[in-house]
Amino acid sequence: MVLATKNAAKRGELEDLLVALAPQVRLVHGLEWEDVDETGDSFEANALLKAAAVHAATGVLALADDSGLEVDALGGEPGIHSARYAGVAGAGADAANNALLLERMAGRTDRRCRFRCVVAIVGEGVSETVSGTVEGTLRREPAGEGGFGYDPLFEPRGWDRTFGEATPADKASVSHRSRALRSAVERLARLT
Ligand code: IMP
Repeated sequence: MVLATKNAAKRGELEDLLVALAPQVRLVHGLEWEDVDETGDSFEANALLKAAAVHAATGVLALADDSGLEVDALGGEPGIHSARYAGVAGAGADAANNALLLERMAGRTDRRCRFRCVVAIVGEGVSETVSGTVEGTLRREPAGEGGFGYDPLFEPRGWDRTFGEATPADKASVSHRSRALRSAVERLARLT
């Protein structure tokens, strides 16, 4: 299987989860493909676009993750726009996204939000999607240096720490990505 992502933080989490959940899966590294335009209007559509494009380019069973943060008071934004919410690409993107989100949430008392992850698996005669979510609240300021993206702002329900303050194993115990991957591994087991 090839992991259809160029996001190093996401790739790291996916690899760790796969090693734990499905050690029999052999990951193929070092393959190349053109960047995939995420033109879909849902996590499902974009995950399928990425997995299908990478399978077509490599010939290997491809697993893609499309994910993001949905904030209730903002009608579900940033949602599928999470990665480029503030219009910044590369190194400064996470800090800019978090700053813009806090600005848009200034003065709002409803801080409910969730991370959502859709995993798509595409190969010869295979096209599957599964999803996972984790509910939580949006902090008023960032806390913690761990994880990536919106992790320093996200406090899972029942926790008193953010994902940014969690160890990778703590995050993996409840995360949207681990929940989606668990379902993906079950689905794969039924296909083989
Ligand atoms: P994608 O690469 O188009 O799926 O965009 C994913 C974006 O959603 C990331 O760049 C982050 O901004 C956000 N995101 C997704 N999963 C997480 C997570 O586990 N922690 C923090 N931010 C996340």
